[in-house]
Order: sequence, then C-alpha cells, then structure tokens
Amino acid sequence: MTQLVWFRNDLRTADNPALTAACKAKSGVHACFILTPEQWQEHDWSPARVHFVIAHANALAKELAQLGISMTFITARRFSDSIESLAQLCRDKGISRVHFNEEYGVNERRRDKQLKRQLGAEDVGVCKYRDQTVAPVGEILTQQEEPYSVFTPFSRSWKKWIDVAQPTVLPIPEAQGKPVKAARVDEIPEAFRDAPPALVKTGEDAAHDQLEHFLSERAGSYKEDRDFPSLDGTSQLSPYLANGVLSGRQCLLAARQAQGMGGNQEGLTTWISEIAWRDFYINILYHYPRVSMHRAFKTDTEALTWNEPGEKFEAWKEGRTGIPIVDAAMRQLNETGWMHNRLRMVTAMFLTKNLFIDWRLGEAYFMSKLVDGFLASNNGGWQWSASTGTDSAPYFRVFNPVTQSERFDPKGYFIRQWVPELAKLDNKQIHDPGSKGGVIPKGYPRPIVDLKESRKEAIAKFRALKD
Ligand code: FAD
Repeated sequence: MTQLVWFRNDLRTADNPALTAACKAKSGVHACFILTPEQWQEHDWSPARVHFVIAHANALAKELAQLGISMTFITARRFSDSIESLAQLCRDKGISRVHFNEEYGVNERRRDKQLKRQLGAEDVGVCKYRDQTVAPVGEILTQQEEPYSVFTPFSRSWKKWIDVAQPTVLPIPEAQGKPVKAARVDEIPEAFRDAPPALVKTGEDAAHDQLEHFLSERAGSYKEDRDFPSLDGTSQLSPYLANGVLSGRQCLLAARQAQGMGGNQEGLTTWISEIAWRDFYINILYHYPRVSMHRAFKTDTEALTWNEPGEKFEAWKEGRTGIPIVDAAMRQLNETGWMHNRLRMVTAMFLTKNLFIDWRLGEAYFMSKLVDGFLASNNGGWQWSASTGTDSAPYFRVFNPVTQSERFDPKGYFIRQWVPELAKLDNKQIHDPGSKGGVIPKGYPRPIVDLKESRKEAIAKFRALKD
C-alpha cells in the first residue's frame, strides 16, 4: 500500500499538498522525480533552469531522506516515455497510489490524463492537488462564474477570497521512518551543460532566508525601488517560485505577517500584488489553453503580419541593437539567466513594436535563457507587451526605450555595468549615444531601427486590425 509522490514543479517539503496527503496515509511513502531532457528542450528550457532544477531536486532528495522517504530519479526522454517509467516504478515498489500537484501547460495536462488512464488499468490510484496558486486555480471567477481576463478585478476578488478563506501553509510532514540514503543526479543532461553561475543559493532553507531578508530589509522601499534595475529593489525570488521551491502561499503569508508586525504597508501591499499577477497568469493558462499552444489570447491579433526576424532579431538577442538600455538588459539575461521586470517589458516591447517581430520568438528566446522561465508568467508578460494578451498594454501605448532608460536608469549605472563600451559617456549621452551631436563610441552599433517611425508603423498595423 505504499504511496508515491511524483515531484514536478513543487521541489519542496513544506507546504506541499501532494507530499502531505501521501504521508497522511501512513502506509509508507516513496518519491520520484523524472528528468525529461528532450521535452525540456522542446519547451525551450534554459541550461540555467535545468541546473537549478537538478540542484534543487538533489537538495529535496536529501531533505526527504531525513524524513525516511527515498527518492528515485528516472530519466525518460519525453513526457510520453515518463508514463511507462512511472508505471514500471509503481510495479517495482508495489505502489497503490500516486500523488502529484497539478501543472497547467497543455502537454502536462495531456500527460497527466494519460497517466491516470494507464495507472487506472493497473489498479493504481491517482490523486492530484491544486498547489501552484494561492487561491486554488479556477476558484476566482466573476459573478457570472466566468474567468477574469483583466487583472484589476481579478486581484480585487483574489484579495477578498484571501480575507475570507484565510489560507494557511502546510508544515513539513513528520518523518515516515528512519533516515535513508539520499539518491542524487550527478550528471546534467548534455544539451544543458553550459549554464551561467547560479544566481541564488540552493535549497528550501536558502529560499526562506532570501524571503525573510527581502521582507525585513527591502520590501519597505519596494514600491519606490522596484522599477530601477540598478537597485537591488526586488526580491529575486522568481527562480524559487517558478520551480516550486517556495509556494505563493508561503510568500503571501510571510508578507502578511510582516504587515502585521508593522512593516511598511505600501511596499508590502505592492509586493503582494505581484503574487496576484502570478496567480492571474496561471489562471489564464488554465482557462485558455490556447495560450500555451503558441496562440494569441486576443485572437484578432493573429492576423498581424510580423516582420521576418533576420539579422535584427540576432542583434536583439545578442544585445547589439544600438539602444543602450535594451542591449544592457539582453546582456544581463544572456550572462545571468535573469532580467529585471521593467527591462523585460522594455525589451519585449522593443522587439514586438519597434522591430515588429513576432512575440512568440521573443517568448521562446527568454525561456531558453531564463532561470525563472515559467510558461504562465512568460507568456503573460510577452502577450502583455505585444498587446495580444489579456489586460495588455494598449497597442498605441508603446514604451520609448530611451525615455524608459532616462527615467529608470537616470545615471546610467545599469547601462555602464552591462555595456562597458559606453561607460565613459555622460549621464545624458549614455541613453542615446550619437544624439544631439554626440559621438557613438567605437565598437558600439548605431541604432538598428528608427524608434519614432517604427512606433508609428506598429500602431498603424494594429489600427488596421480594428478597421
Ligand atoms: P518581485 O518583484 O520580487 O516579485 C515577486 C514575485 O512575484 C516574482 O518572483 C514572481 O513570481 C511574481 N511576479 C512579479 N511580477 C510578475 C508579473 N508581472 N507576472 C507574473 N508574476 C510576477 N516571471 C517569471 O517568474 N517567469 C518568467 O518566465 C517571466 N517572464 C516574463 C516575461 C516578460 C516579457 C515580462 C514582462 C515579465 C515576465 N515575468 C516572468 C514576470 C516578472 O518579470 C518576474 O517575475 C520578475 O522580474 C521576477 O523578479 P523578482 O522575483 O525579483 O520579482
């Protein structure tokens, strides 16, 4: 009657509904994690993310071993292969029930349905749990019982739900037996070996330390600092959240506790709204599976004819567009696997509006580099920037990257860090070298696009859709 917990996007022992339920059965618990490198490649996972996930799966195996739960690591090439591997594990270990927390991508949902069918035929039960969001996914609906497609009313209902439901977090389950030897993955799959140095420390404890540090030291000025990429103004918890080392509930509860203890209310309230954005996009993925099949949320925008990507796309990827803030951001992404939120919006708008290159290409490129690559948020952010998604930036409101740079990196600290060719320019020239009679430093390109003209053209193309 052994229970099996299949860990996927929930690499933690605390506040883990599937693990808690399996332990409650008190009939012995086994754990497994399946590496699916070909599927990861197909889903554009980055080397940084694969390193992060494997390091955390190893750390999780160690924690579980202390609780008397042993972990089996399996390598199956794709999701379809993982089903047979899991069925075989159930036969080998005499598993009576498999527990897992739900994932909402289309391929993940198909895989889980297929697994249920296969295990059902072998008399193994399957129990799934809603874990990824603070309010269970699908719970926050309009009065007409429809999903929200605009963030502000969603977040109002979300906050009301929290006040009524008072969500809590689950403790780490009690030990199921004597400590056992922990298994580990020693080899990173070949396609993902070349990764940037780890951005954050490994393990659940490290994630909680970072959360506490952020809440006690930085959250107070979050509202003022969060848009300035040269400041350490945001939590950088996204790799942990995207891979389930931390849950949204744990973040929410810790932030509310900090509020209760007199922490800066505005900073904390603003930060809690970011957790709501995460929940919002996961709900969109759940209710509108087309967004995970390369389709636009606003279906009329599918008629847009995007430019051929070509050399301009390569310049964008490599951070040599001649627009300093865009180049600095893209180099940060390429070198660290992370990019500041303000700059994700600036670079995404530049690609989709000024270069008029399909948002799907940008979405895939981000995913292939980000350590926090997370389908729901990445797709949501890209479709927002491209004006093809829910709640999108209206198509006529196009960020001017130079103005954004002057506003959010006024002294050029961030640009100087990532584009050293421009380090010697003064605080005015650095945002737009070569303008107003300035000279572009040797080795730095001229802008690959005219910002004003391209903006006008993009607006005209969107307007034509409406006519
Ligand atoms: P904080 O400001 O400290 O926020 C705390 C947490 O709230 C984040 O860790 C994240 O989980 C969540 N969050 C914050 N902003 C958003 C948002 N706009 N949408 C959804 N969740 C949010 N986030 C990802 O986690 N993975 C992605 O792949 C991703 N791709 C993006 C692509 C684009 C084009 C854009 C515009 C945004 C994207 N985001 C993505 C959202 C956001 O940029 C990151 O979550 C944020 O920069 C992470 O930094 P942080 O942890 O310091 O955030």
